[in-house]
Amino acid sequence: MKKEFKAESKRLMELMINSIYTNKEIFLREVISNASDAIDKLHYKSLTDRKIKVKKDDFAIFIDIDKENRTLTISDNGIGMTKEELETNLGTIAKSGSFDFKNDNKKKENIDIIGQFGVGFYSAFMVASKVEVISKAFGSEEAYSWVSSGIDGYSIKKCSKENYGTDIVLTIKDDDKEYDKYLEEYNIKSLIKKYSDYITYPIKMEVTKTKEKEGQENEFEEYKEIEVINSLVPLWKRNKKDIKQEDYDTFYSDKFFDYEKPLTQIHTAAEGTIEYNSLIYIPSHAAYDYYSKDYEKGLQLYSNGVLIMEKCADLVPDYFSFVKGVVDSPDLSLNISRETLQQNRVLKTIATNIEKRIKSELLEMQAKKEVDYLKFWEAFGMQIKVGVYNDFGMNKDKLQDLLMFYSSKEEKLITLADYVKRNKDYKDIYYACGNTTEQIAMLPQVEAVVAKGKEVLYCTDYVDEFVLKTLMKYEDKDFKNVCSDNIDLDSEEEKEALKKLNEKSKEMLDLIKDTIAVKEVKFTNKLKNHPVCLTSVGEISVEMEKVMNAMPTQENINAEKILEINENHPIAKKIQDLYKKDKEQLKDYSKVLYAQARLIEGLPIENPTEITNLICEMIAK
Ligand code: ADP
Repeated sequence: MKKEFKAESKRLMELMINSIYTNKEIFLREVISNASDAIDKLHYKSLTDRKIKVKKDDFAIFIDIDKENRTLTISDNGIGMTKEELETNLGTIAKSGSFDFKNDNKKKENIDIIGQFGVGFYSAFMVASKVEVISKAFGSEEAYSWVSSGIDGYSIKKCSKENYGTDIVLTIKDDDKEYDKYLEEYNIKSLIKKYSDYITYPIKMEVTKTKEKEGQENEFEEYKEIEVINSLVPLWKRNKKDIKQEDYDTFYSDKFFDYEKPLTQIHTAAEGTIEYNSLIYIPSHAAYDYYSKDYEKGLQLYSNGVLIMEKCADLVPDYFSFVKGVVDSPDLSLNISRETLQQNRVLKTIATNIEKRIKSELLEMQAKKEVDYLKFWEAFGMQIKVGVYNDFGMNKDKLQDLLMFYSSKEEKLITLADYVKRNKDYKDIYYACGNTTEQIAMLPQVEAVVAKGKEVLYCTDYVDEFVLKTLMKYEDKDFKNVCSDNIDLDSEEEKEALKKLNEKSKEMLDLIKDTIAVKEVKFTNKLKNHPVCLTSVGEISVEMEKVMNAMPTQENINAEKILEINENHPIAKKIQDLYKKDKEQLKDYSKVLYAQARLIEGLPIENPTEITNLICEMIAK
């Protein structure tokens, strides 16, 4: 009886059958990878359950070409599938998550999808007009055959098969010559080399060879011989000297389905108390779901070439969750369970080493490959920043040197170390916050500090100030927000003169303060041409007030604000005059000045109608 595919499978299948994707050859990689997974499962089972007796040396994947019948068969002696498994695994789209069809169909072109993800079993339909899967589950007496010629559906029937495992029989399409190459021994051999060389089980194929006929010089005859095509030793276990960058890159894209080259890889062979090989990549861009809760961090974990876990989260800290890679250690027991993993001493040691290596690799990139590091920062800088302030700042010392901020002087991103090295004479590290670097540069307070020749870090991410507050210090320098009041750049005389002016004007300033309800109002000498600015005292800066109030959960947060008035601006004299002549009008002016200061800081005006009316009155006068 013929059965229908599930709707999504149908769509994927359609895509495969009518594919104009040029890289059709990847189907072989997919089918071989499934075969290897199936052997992995049985291998794992045999190592953890002593009742199961299989010989490791027997494990293999076999490739057979039958030109006459136009079939290419990929067989394995892995775990096999029961009737139900054939139904659920092949009748519906892979549930394993390597392909999220619903999500990605919308965003990406179909062609892209194929290149970007492991599309699995269905890719066989790119080259085959009919696919038959003959399988016998390990430990079962019965074998079943699953057959499909495409979208119409599939059928399953009982059949006979001697050994456990699976044969995938592909009837290669004959409607175009381009498919003939999938029946050529030489071509199949090179495809295996290209895509599946790292598979840890032997991939065997009968190949044609020639030899000199016995006793007859220059007379040759052909003979057949089974050959192991792949080199068996996985890439991560090979000697670095023998690996080309291209091999690393291909391995990365095949294994992690990322079509963009990674920035770099860290290949380690550790010997000593704990032995392990690891191959870890730093991607060049964030996965589409990286900053969502769906993203799962982790490294593939192997014990002596046997896959234990697809994504071992305990191997990487959250702040480095972007790395991809594999770890293989003979010191890990196969019986390790998810719960005991966390307490596992070997795993902990490996994780600590990996973390150190990732950090040193990043620092080296930062020092020697600026372009790459900026790419990294663009993709994962946010993750590093969050890492600084998460867990109560526990990891800040580890991460602080990876941070980058925009410098007013260099007009590009720099590190805190760069800043401190250049500005040894500064007491503090100056920074300012805003939406864009252009906007920050135009803030009155910032302009004034920059005009004094000081270098200021411009923070444009909403988390930046939290990061700096968490760091508290960098190399014994405090962080000072130039928009807060505690910046001290004046000479003693300047300070003295300003202090006198403020004391003399205290009553007037208090009247303004009471009118607009801020913590303090004072004259300042730091604003070049601007009339007013808003600063703050205490833990919460004006920028933090904005950020925190934008969050849905926080209650209303208020920075303790100070309105500063430029002592050299004509309005200074004007308000002093008004204080003598017309206190009511001074109050109105104060409201307008305060509203201006709030606007410049990006804060809302609390009473817009009143303010606009006041301005119109002034214009009309
Ligand atoms: P994925 O490999 O991403 O899970 P596939 O579409 O390639 O998706 O395969 C679907 C499922 O079919 C696999 O997860 C596996 O359970 C099963 N499968 C495929 N090939 C084999 C095989 N050779 N032996 C055993 N099971 C297989």
